[in-house]
Amino acid sequence: MKPEQSLPIRCDFCGACVAVCPVDAIQLDEAHWRLFAERCTQCEACVMVCPMNALEMKHEEPV
Ligand code: SF4
Ligand code: SF4
Repeated sequence: MKPEQSLPIRCDFCGACVAVCPVDAIQLDEAHWRLFAERCTQCEACVMVCPMNALEMKHEEPV
């Protein structure tokens, strides 16, 4: 599983998810939200802290 933006349009780029992530797995700039999935420990802190409910945990697609 990994966090994804379920409805990216909700994101207001507040930076709360970046601040809370213990492994710096989220990168944010003015227009983009990006997850470095290989770093993510799936702690769900970002999902819980997002004030816009823009994140949810999603199962990886089988490859
Ligand atoms: S906490 Fe939510 S609203 Fe804030 S930057 Fe992260 S995804 Fe966007
Ligand atoms: S689930 Fe945890 S480790 Fe993964 S991006 Fe969110 S805060 Fe970072």
